[in-house]
Amino acid sequence: AHALAYLQSKLRDVPDFPKPGILFKDITPLLADPRALHITIDLLAERFIGERIDIVVGIESRGFIFGGAVATRLNAGFVPVRKLGKLPWKTDRLTYALEYGEAELEMHMDSIPKGARVLVVDDVLATGGTASAAAELARRQGGTVEAFAFVVELDFLAGRSRLDSENTRPAVYSL
Ligand code: 5GP
Repeated sequence: AHALAYLQSKLRDVPDFPKPGILFKDITPLLADPRALHITIDLLAERFIGERIDIVVGIESRGFIFGGAVATRLNAGFVPVRKLGKLPWKTDRLTYALEYGEAELEMHMDSIPKGARVLVVDDVLATGGTASAAAELARRQGGTVEAFAFVVELDFLAGRSRLDSENTRPAVYSL
């Protein structure tokens, strides 16, 4: 509880970013603090030790930071999910709905070994649309999504219910 309060103190609430009316959780103070960063990675990774995670899928861009660090702790590989047009090789892409409009995410073809056990990591779970799309891409490449892990969960947006409602019922964790 002491550690979580410390992490909480390193999150900055920024009003009206990126649009009026949105209260943005800025995680950069947490990243810049050595103790907070270390604790965050420890807590994200520890529940998956012994769970045989083969691949961590990290979502651009803050999911790369946490996902990459967690992957090394779990002796897993890392596969990036990126916004449209950033990945150099053949990709699978998925269009998904945002609050206003839509967005596209991509993953490299054949990036996940058949049957690999996948953990999806991002910094913030908001509506769950982004994480849900990343999981779908991982499944299409042959992975089995075992769980999702986030640093921050915005409970009032009920993103968890969106991830839980998918047929494979992966576990959803946040700090
Ligand atoms: P969702 O698809 O769950 O609505 O939105 C989640 C995506 O938007 C994540 O990739 C996350 O990084 C970003 N995001 C949404 N709200 C916030 C926020 O308040 N703070 C941060 N750091 N990222 C956010």
